[in-house]
Amino acid sequence: MSVQSMTTTKTADVDATLAQTYALAAAGADIVRITCNDVAAAQGLAEIVPRAPVPIIADIHFQYRLALASIEAGVAGLRLNPGNIRKEKHIKAVAHAAGDAGIPIRVGVNAGSLDKDLLAKYGAPVPAALVASALQEIRYLEEAGFADIKISVKHSDVPSMVESYRLLAQKVEYPLHLGVTEAGPPPGGLIKSVAGIATLLLEGIGDTIRFSLTADPVEEAVAGRKLLEYLGLRERKSLDLIACPSCGRAEVDVIAVASEAEAALEAEGLPIQVAVMGCVVNGPGEAREAEIGIAAGRGKGHLFIKGQVVRVVKEAEMVDALVDEARRLVEEGVEARLAAADVSAADLAQEEALELRSLQGDANRATARRAAVAEVAGE
Ligand code: SF4
Repeated sequence: MSVQSMTTTKTADVDATLAQTYALAAAGADIVRITCNDVAAAQGLAEIVPRAPVPIIADIHFQYRLALASIEAGVAGLRLNPGNIRKEKHIKAVAHAAGDAGIPIRVGVNAGSLDKDLLAKYGAPVPAALVASALQEIRYLEEAGFADIKISVKHSDVPSMVESYRLLAQKVEYPLHLGVTEAGPPPGGLIKSVAGIATLLLEGIGDTIRFSLTADPVEEAVAGRKLLEYLGLRERKSLDLIACPSCGRAEVDVIAVASEAEAALEAEGLPIQVAVMGCVVNGPGEAREAEIGIAAGRGKGHLFIKGQVVRVVKEAEMVDALVDEARRLVEEGVEARLAAADVSAADLAQEEALELRSLQGDANRATARRAAVAEVAGE
């Protein structure tokens, strides 16, 4: 499962494009797409490809010669629609050159630029129209004897995007590249992309993904990587911060502490799941699946590992203590850090939880609710 993103620099500006390619790779992109829209861009690719940290895909529109030039520049794949190249002999020339180079071609159908005849036939860029377009495009390549194909059928409308890929997956065996096109800026663009891409990935559809955000492409790469990590489709190499939404029981500003902790832990680059919880009454128990966490008490922070409180620190030291313990946990492992726990910490946390509960009252009204349920049940 690969994350793709695309540079926004002028390809002819080799240094700027390489710098952005490195930034994308560092953020989690496995493949970077770069436009090849003129001869200067193709020449830029010739310098970029050998120095890039990840495979480079050339984005081609109408000019078959630029496809050939990109292959000459050494790209690892092409994204083009043969229908745009039009002449059969030109399509064949590109297919043969890609075949000789051993690189794939992605057919990229997009609702916004659907073939006019198909648009007239279907009346709108509906899923069936996108799939018909994709099948037509791959037929051009297959007729040229080329089958190393990837396909995308992107739509800006999430339900239409999902339906297009579902239909396509029933019809072809080729790998699919997923994306919601023109998703827009975050947070809307992120939500649309996650809704469409995650739905399909969880159905087993999709091989490469791209978030098409109106934002710095590094955000696309980060989002793609994190989505795969959260879905369990990629080993987590970065922080997974879980935090309670806060409520009337919170003893600290959870949003501020979570933001501070996230920044400090991300700077450490620790691949760990961390919980920031607003109160010690419910925090350690609710977040017991997290590897490590901190829950606020009155003026204190209760550090816990796998739900067990191991240290109590001053509130002002909460984030520093969390980062310090996270570092040790990654180095020494859970067992060693539990063995090094402050034996009085768990009792202190328990005392504080009872004290807070008596001060705040039983906010969950557990006793009254249990009694009401028992009454309805006839006990
Ligand atoms: S951990 Fe505490 S503060 Fe956070 S939501 Fe749960 S009860 Fe509220």
